[in-house]
Amino acid sequence: MGNLVAIVGRPNVGKSTLFNRLTKTRQAIVNDEAGTTRDRQYGKSEWLGQEFSVVDTGGWVVNSDDIFEGEIRKQVLLAVDEADVILFVVDVMNGVTDLDLQVAQILRRAKSPVILVANKTDNGDLQYNAPEFYSLGLGDPHCISSLSGSGTGDLLDVLVSKFKKDTSEILDDDIPRFAVVGRPNAGKSSIINAFIGEDRNIVTEIAGTTRDSIYTRYEKFGFDFYLVDTAGIRKKGKVNEDLEYYSVVRSIRAIEGSDICILMLDATRGIESQDLNIFSVIQKNAKGIVVVVNKWDLVENKTDKVMKEFENAIRNRFAPFVDIPIIFTSALTKQRIFKVLEAAREVYENRSIKISTARLNEEMLPLIEAYPPPSTKGKYIKIKYVTQLPNTQVPSFVFFANLPQYVKDPYKRFLENKLREKWNLTGTPINIFIRQK
Ligand code: GDP
Ligand code: GDP
Repeated sequence: MGNLVAIVGRPNVGKSTLFNRLTKTRQAIVNDEAGTTRDRQYGKSEWLGQEFSVVDTGGWVVNSDDIFEGEIRKQVLLAVDEADVILFVVDVMNGVTDLDLQVAQILRRAKSPVILVANKTDNGDLQYNAPEFYSLGLGDPHCISSLSGSGTGDLLDVLVSKFKKDTSEILDDDIPRFAVVGRPNAGKSSIINAFIGEDRNIVTEIAGTTRDSIYTRYEKFGFDFYLVDTAGIRKKGKVNEDLEYYSVVRSIRAIEGSDICILMLDATRGIESQDLNIFSVIQKNAKGIVVVVNKWDLVENKTDKVMKEFENAIRNRFAPFVDIPIIFTSALTKQRIFKVLEAAREVYENRSIKISTARLNEEMLPLIEAYPPPSTKGKYIKIKYVTQLPNTQVPSFVFFANLPQYVKDPYKRFLENKLREKWNLTGTPINIFIRQK
């Protein structure tokens, strides 16, 4: 699990510009990686071989111009609670403002390291404005220009030097890690209690990689897994819960530390933007997923038809990733609780599937022959051979072709669908690569 970096600051100082610069670095390097970019508030990055995640807490606020001071305060408090390192962005063109002072006051009490970023230092002259930020009481201002990128390399050097060391090797790698995520009141604590009950003998708490996350080992009824819990689930009723993206930020750590995410939806509320944002974080991390529609006991008309409608609505919102188990539960009555664990275990197995090259070619080549990639610019495209890559996080398949550059996304989707028809890959993302034969 990498470190989590939060970008905070008042509106218009350049937080989202910095966010884009930090997260694009990696996209340029790892361009093969799957992952949709539905939102710009959460992204992955890498510097000097260290992976980390970045959240732009301001990015979730729709209209950052008439943002309330109280709202900024909550954002900063959430960042202080959740992040390993905080980037506090100020604007050298504007100097110190009242809002900067208020943010600084909160940050001075933060336990995590805070790096003061003097943004918009587009030229050497502006650098002379930076010393005024010493008055914020947060140490040296680091001059950068997010627009041009100058100074960002040095900033990243400082950033990674503050990272916490990963200690995840204390966990047994062969045991799956499940995370229960979802927005406030979806029923996360209730379902975890339903799994674990009051029986303390079946669980062992293990201090996790970073201060806020805890792994619990569960061994019962033939199940053996770690439950990744975050303080977000245990520490409840805090001031920030009413923030739109509260549950998204709170879920990040658990998602990153898991293999499979159990995404809890509230049957009485349907799918809302927080659910989609959490789903997007799961996807960006290429984790397995089980969707749980909880509080099913409160739905009056529990017919198969209503269930099907629910399922379709969910798949529509999560498209194109639709091969997902969806389970209707009541954490209250414990209805279908163990089905959730069974599904999570099945997704874990699907995620670790190993298909022999012989079987792959036997099944896939006739399908490809019957429906070859459309010829482009008068050239025939031939796929001759397919194999699964060894030792990958998610099942990854390489198709060897004479002209790989002409195999387009719709055809890759065709290949993916056929793989999913032939093998059980439900709940797990897969990668498809086309390479030169
Ligand atoms: P946020 O509200 O803090 O997320 O700020 P934005 O990233 O949206 O930036 C606000 C404005 O400042 C935009 O017009 C950006 O183009 C501009 N901006 C951001 N970084 C820089 C910079 O390094 N130099 C200059 N001159 N402008 C910048
Ligand atoms: P969390 O914030 O996601 O951890 O949600 P909680 O587990 O604290 O549940 C929020 C509220 O919903 C509590 O009052 C629970 O008793 C209630 N709740 C949770 N699951 C169910 C369910 O399946 N059915 C009903 N009727 N209520 C539920």
